[in-house]
Amino acid sequence: MTGLYIHIPFCLRRCGYCDFCSSVLDAGRLGAYADAVVRNVRAYVCKDICLDTVYFGGGTPSLLPGEKMAEILAEIRAAFSLSNDAEVTVEANPGTVDAEKLSAYSDAGVNRISFGIQSCKDDELHRLGRIHSFSDAEKAVATAKKCGIKNISADLMLGIPGQTLSSAEESVRKICELGISHLSAYMLKIEEGTPFDCPEIRAAVADDDTVSEMYLSCAEIAESFGLMQYEISNFARAGFESRHNLKYWTGEPYLGIGASAHSYFGGRRFFVPPDIAGFIASDRQPTDTEDDRPDRLFEYLMLGLRLTRGIELSRVDELGGNAGRIAEASLPLERAGFVTCEGGRLRLTRRGFLVSNEVITRLIEAAQRT
Ligand code: SF4
Repeated sequence: MTGLYIHIPFCLRRCGYCDFCSSVLDAGRLGAYADAVVRNVRAYVCKDICLDTVYFGGGTPSLLPGEKMAEILAEIRAAFSLSNDAEVTVEANPGTVDAEKLSAYSDAGVNRISFGIQSCKDDELHRLGRIHSFSDAEKAVATAKKCGIKNISADLMLGIPGQTLSSAEESVRKICELGISHLSAYMLKIEEGTPFDCPEIRAAVADDDTVSEMYLSCAEIAESFGLMQYEISNFARAGFESRHNLKYWTGEPYLGIGASAHSYFGGRRFFVPPDIAGFIASDRQPTDTEDDRPDRLFEYLMLGLRLTRGIELSRVDELGGNAGRIAEASLPLERAGFVTCEGGRLRLTRRGFLVSNEVITRLIEAAQRT
């Protein structure tokens, strides 16, 4: 089964930390962009492609009016074979939805909403440049449930300027108390060239040790609410893991439509250039090749080790790697508490997730050694 990603690159305001492909909303351009999405879905027409996930990401896809969402989803149903139980997710900014829009989304087939809540502290939200307050988020989650959308995810940010361990813990708790089924907890990364890339903001962010404590504590609190960790940054009730995002980590195919959208399809990785005007103007979205022949061993390890279930050592051999070497390289990491190796499966521990780049790089180097 294939996933479909649709990128909607407009926001009401740019957040200071963001380097995603998005620009400030202009209603006329959003309409023209949505028309270009419909054109591109139509251009695919292939009933042989069975979709079991559709994911609207951004930007702020919840800026799409209900009727545009319905039009795009109707076109997707006409062009592809969409399974009856498909997971259809929309990322939403809590400050951009109301009952009318959410019930139109629900009627159109949206059955999962991912709210960018980030924090329960309004001063932290303000510092991030977010347009919503925590009370907007509480209302948005309650409204989505009333409109029949029960599968609700929330994004939480760790390492917000001015955030302390106790305010981060309070945010996790209050967000979990909203009765969500999925939580994504990301550590703020200050990207080059963003407004946050300045000494004042860097000085206001807690040190690495405190952010690590926030992460460990967040994981414990989430699990106490029944949201179990299944990936470095993701927690879910049993059966509510993001089916779409799991495709990225398990090497399943997905197609992307929209400026900056990436695809992995037919054994190739390709992407649409991050050019909003170019996407609107073209009849068929242009694509550039990212990788014609992805290294399957590298990707299996790089992506699979992000998951709590880890990787199978036997698969490393099947993909042409050296399972013996990776097992050997994992011994000191296991003694240090960063990985476990049991029943032929190698997994990072939660402490290992905190230093995942170093641990995964070391394991990949070992697996590739002949
Ligand atoms: S709402 Fe999301 S995509 Fe838009 S600017 Fe903020 S972080 Fe970036």
